[in-house]
Amino acid sequence: MSELEYEIGLLSKLVSLDTDSNEKKNYQECSEVLLNEAKKLGLGAEIFDGKVILKDDNRPRPNVVVDLNKGSDTTLLLVTHYDIVPPGDGWTHNPFKLTVEKGKAYGRGASDDKGGIVSCLGAMAKLKDDESADINVKLIITCDEEVGGEGGIEYLTDVVKIRGHAALVIDSGPEFVSCGASGVLWGKIKVKGKQGHAGYPHKAVNAIDEAMKIVSSLQRYKKKLIAQRISKLPAPPDSPKKYVWRRLSVTMIHAGEKENIIPGECDIRFDLRSLPDENIDGLKIATERFIKNEVRKMGVNAQFQTIHVMPGYFTNPTHPLINSLKEATKKVAGEELPVAADLGGNDGAFLAGVNVPVACFGPLREGTNYHGVDEFVYLKDLSFVRDVLVNVCQRGQKKLRR
Ligand SMILES: [Zn+2]
Repeated sequence: MSELEYEIGLLSKLVSLDTDSNEKKNYQECSEVLLNEAKKLGLGAEIFDGKVILKDDNRPRPNVVVDLNKGSDTTLLLVTHYDIVPPGDGWTHNPFKLTVEKGKAYGRGASDDKGGIVSCLGAMAKLKDDESADINVKLIITCDEEVGGEGGIEYLTDVVKIRGHAALVIDSGPEFVSCGASGVLWGKIKVKGKQGHAGYPHKAVNAIDEAMKIVSSLQRYKKKLIAQRISKLPAPPDSPKKYVWRRLSVTMIHAGEKENIIPGECDIRFDLRSLPDENIDGLKIATERFIKNEVRKMGVNAQFQTIHVMPGYFTNPTHPLINSLKEATKKVAGEELPVAADLGGNDGAFLAGVNVPVACFGPLREGTNYHGVDEFVYLKDLSFVRDVLVNVCQRGQKKLRR
């Protein structure tokens, strides 16, 4: 019997269900498969439907919570999701039929995040009869992660109020232990000019020309932001900088309708990533002040608006949760993983927002094409993640509470 027979069998079942988060397909079916799976393992399981807080539609948003109760007063949360992004075109494998080939298992969701789910359930199956496992484990399997998580993790943390002593988000890579993530700020600048005939530019004010002035001051602002402050948290291995830095990207520019019309309006959007260990509200105020000043100095007719803010978060790299994860990776792989903060955002923010210490880890290795064509998971990563989780929970009481 293969060492991964259980995990591959379950992964195959999960991958065969197209759980596209845009269309909310097979949510009910998938949550029932997971519920039955947990019961087969002798674990407690319950469904929490997040549709109750959503006003836009009445489609089910079943989230599954699987309980391994060891009668402990310490509970470790494991956070995963079963929804997926659409496969897109160009696959050489069937995205909805798990194909195992040369140490890899192909399929949409194989790594993100159905691979994470099977590693967690595989770990819980082992921990159930393991007497050295002395903490409770609550596995959270949400829907809608890929579309913001309102009926998923947000519902579970804010309404159901699921809490734990610490949380591991199993929706990340096995290359490092992630102890935090950057915050995100989205800005919108609406530039006004005066529309006119391209043959008579002197009678118009070209909104694109005006917008370019603002884009170039945003480039200066980016340099200033980076020079001003850098994080105390290391950046992921292979990053161009050793510590997490602020990033600003102009991501959208919309203007113009026809070649011979000088546009009267131009819409600029940017994405600003904060340091995990800074207050994003301060950055928001500074950014608003900078742009308003520039606009006034240049005499451009423009309105600035912050349209989205999501704070970053971090868990101190010396926290027992991070240490136990580092020790476990050393035990299982012979080598301790480095600790770093994520450059992107993740669901850890919701739990960190209610003061639960969070770390992230999982089978989404670089190069496994998650969200891309021919997504796969390395079989060795499924067992690595599972075995690390088992190790963290063995004598976990002492490890997590020291
Ligand atoms: Zn994911």
